[in-house]
Amino acid sequence: MTQARYNQRVSFSLYVHIPWCQSKCPYCDFNSHAAASWPEEQYTGALISELEHRAGTPPYAGERIRTIFFGGGTPSLFDPKSIGSIIDAANRICGIEADAEITLEANPGTVDLAKLGGMRAAGVNRISFGAQSFNAATLKFLGRIHSADETRAAAKMAHRAGFERLNLDLIFSVPGQTVADVLFDIESVCALEPDHISAYNLTFEEGTAFFTDLKRGRIKQLASDDQAAMYQTVREEIPRRGYAMYEISNYAAPGHEARHNLTYWRGQTYLGIGAGAHSYAGDGRGGRRWWNEKLPSRYIAAIEERANAEAGAETCDEATAQSEFVFLNLRLRDGFALADFHQRFGRNFECVFGGVATPLFNNGLLTLERGCIKLTDRGLEMADSVFAEFV
Ligand code: SF4
Repeated sequence: MTQARYNQRVSFSLYVHIPWCQSKCPYCDFNSHAAASWPEEQYTGALISELEHRAGTPPYAGERIRTIFFGGGTPSLFDPKSIGSIIDAANRICGIEADAEITLEANPGTVDLAKLGGMRAAGVNRISFGAQSFNAATLKFLGRIHSADETRAAAKMAHRAGFERLNLDLIFSVPGQTVADVLFDIESVCALEPDHISAYNLTFEEGTAFFTDLKRGRIKQLASDDQAAMYQTVREEIPRRGYAMYEISNYAAPGHEARHNLTYWRGQTYLGIGAGAHSYAGDGRGGRRWWNEKLPSRYIAAIEERANAEAGAETCDEATAQSEFVFLNLRLRDGFALADFHQRFGRNFECVFGGVATPLFNNGLLTLERGCIKLTDRGLEMADSVFAEFV
């Protein structure tokens, strides 16, 4: 009975990657390519071909789609007709659940009311804008192509276009930023009445322009105490305005958590299509993950040749799946139930991870409440170190 719950066929989440942007932000390590034009029709056709191919294979065959997420890159660069044709194809090929969450990431500098209305009519029901900041100097430092006023206008237009679900992203711990600046960004973002806010600590990932700048001493990271103070401000001030923190970087009005992202954090099955997209097919206690060709031209060529652009894959054995289950679920504010761990793996959490977890409990980084293990406030600040213990 227990194992059956995890083997049970369930609907899956679909991620669609649109890999182009107007320009490359210096902190961005996503598979995004700055371009003035892109082969939209050809790429859209390739996405649909890939979906047709994958939808006929396990574990997706016969399953319906419960969430779709158009990420990038900048999906809002695409015409609503292209986005609509992908949604229509997904519905024709797999079937989309009636209450599916369909999100599109958008850059505030790339939309107008007509485009947003077109996206809504195409079936998108949730928009996610990369606001990042409302401070002109911070936006400039981050290399964003939009102004704070454009974000304000875009959020208002999204509401006018009929989007009841709106996410706004913020970035904090930006060099030069103060806690007062972060508070101003929080006040500004909440004034736009989104139902969801993501607030990320700026990281300097290898391969980005910021990483090089940091290594060469051209920019300096904020001191860790300042970063911790900003995260604390974010954790306290966003919930004070009606958005509960439900994940390390995510806040939502009651009932408005991002269902698509919960798929990732809960280690559930998803299909990613498009250049560089990753997929995960859970299979009982383990699973398989794979990823596509990153370069859009190679992706399109592979799909046109064999309807498959897989560039690499790995099997996730039971031990890896156990580790991932723990550190992904610990990202969630509610953590995970010990009973769920046992249900999924047929073993007690204490038997598998007792030796790792005990010092984390003793050091006040993990807590056990009503049968659920979760990060403490201190654990939240040191989340990466906690997760590393389970890898
Ligand atoms: S707009 Fe988004 S995806 Fe594109 S370069 Fe900037 S951060 Fe990366």
